[in-house]
Amino acid sequence: MWVNQGPIGRPLATLLTVSVKKMNNYSVTVIGLGYVGITMSVFLANKGVNVIGIDIDYDKVKHLSAGISPIYEKNIEKYLVKALNDKKLSFTTDYNAVLKTNISFITVGTPSNPDGSININYVKNTTKSIGELLKEKKDYHLIVTRSTVIPGTNHNVIKPILEKNSGKRIGKDFGLCMNPEFLKEGNAMKDLEKPSRIVIGEFDKNSGDLLEKFYRQVYRGLKIPIIRTYLSTAELIKYANNAFLATKISFINMISRICDKLTDCDINTIAYAIGLDPRISPLFLRAGLGYGGSCLPKDVKALISFLNMNNLDSSLLYAVNRINNTQPLNVIKICEQALQTLKNKKISILGLAFKPDTDDIRNSPSLKIIDELIHREAHVTLYDPKAVDKVKKIFAEKISYSYSVHQCINQADCVIIATEWDEFKKLTPQDFLKSMKKPIIIDGRGIYNHKEFREKGIVYKRIGLGPYKI
Ligand code: NAD
Repeated sequence: MWVNQGPIGRPLATLLTVSVKKMNNYSVTVIGLGYVGITMSVFLANKGVNVIGIDIDYDKVKHLSAGISPIYEKNIEKYLVKALNDKKLSFTTDYNAVLKTNISFITVGTPSNPDGSININYVKNTTKSIGELLKEKKDYHLIVTRSTVIPGTNHNVIKPILEKNSGKRIGKDFGLCMNPEFLKEGNAMKDLEKPSRIVIGEFDKNSGDLLEKFYRQVYRGLKIPIIRTYLSTAELIKYANNAFLATKISFINMISRICDKLTDCDINTIAYAIGLDPRISPLFLRAGLGYGGSCLPKDVKALISFLNMNNLDSSLLYAVNRINNTQPLNVIKICEQALQTLKNKKISILGLAFKPDTDDIRNSPSLKIIDELIHREAHVTLYDPKAVDKVKKIFAEKISYSYSVHQCINQADCVIIATEWDEFKKLTPQDFLKSMKKPIIIDGRGIYNHKEFREKGIVYKRIGLGPYKI
């Protein structure tokens, strides 16, 4: 059963019952095969939907067609191969695929412009290509924007491009929805299997009905809240969501800076205590190196830019962004305090991905830390279970790369923990003591028990746990 929550003027909690149609009635295109597009295509195909994934990157399409995923996400290749074998999924660079389907999901990237505003050029190009094909299409087509776009984009940019290039009328010949994606990289397949909610911003009731019906079939048997609303509300929900998460992280990092100044304060205890307040919740309350990835940094900046453009006060998010930008540098300060100078010191970084269980290094705090260490002429060595090769493309010969923890920390003067991979959590004080030149650990993710590590003679430092006490 589904809970349908509508905007003001619509029933708020209607339990819907609709006959279950076979999923193979639906054929969809997913346009833009990045983290969102790949996981979505693979998930839907495994649910029985006929999916054609489109991307302009020929190599990506070639690899995906051969069952090789260009991104790391748990179980992705297993499900990718299954869907290809079941003939539910195919990939192409040819937009004509749109003609064979009923729904097109737009999942292309929306990167930041240099001033922080979002660049919607990929969305515009995609929309133009869809529009040109709609000209030839006889039956109704639904276009669904899943890329994150600033409020007004669907109405003021996407709709006119579609109408102009198709020569057809929205509402009559085609529909339009904004359906933001909330998946967490590293947990994407699970998030897709049971999303916390589905937000449908709709141009008109028909568009919303069609998309709701589609999702009800994909998620038959599950009780998932569907929020149906206006296009701009759905666009803003995504930004409000990410800005709030970013604010929680910067908030706890701000408090951790106070802890760093005091001799008997531990941020982990503070986060635990305030997290027990049900109004706060413990999630996104871990002090550390700050947030990274493709979404939070970019979405916070885009919302700041949108607030400024509308002459609204952006100081809250400005502070969130500023705290986040400077947070990784705390590690450098701690490192310098411990070693006096970083010149010619071997500094090992464990973790490059912006979070565990992904190979995504976009805006990863590790990149900032590496830059600073190179600047200070340290010998930097890196290890990550999945992301080493991606980082190699950025820093090339400037630093060294390892393919195991032990190789990385061998003879190190200091180890920085930058991503909380399970592999690192399992390491014991002994693992560090037997390999390192000097047992100095800066735990940027708070994954070890400081008492245990300090008792064994390790100089253990963590964000928000001031000098040596506790
Ligand atoms: P990405 O950069 O990993 O991938 C985008 C893909 O779009 C690339 O493969 C690119 O080649 C392709 N592309 C660009 N122009 C195209 C065109 N004209 N036609 C076809 N393909 C084209 O992006 P992503 O991380 O998957 O994010 C996609 C969107 O989803 C963004 O708006 C992002 O903000 C949003 N989002 C991302 C996540 C996430 O965890 N990555 C989560 C929620 C929402």
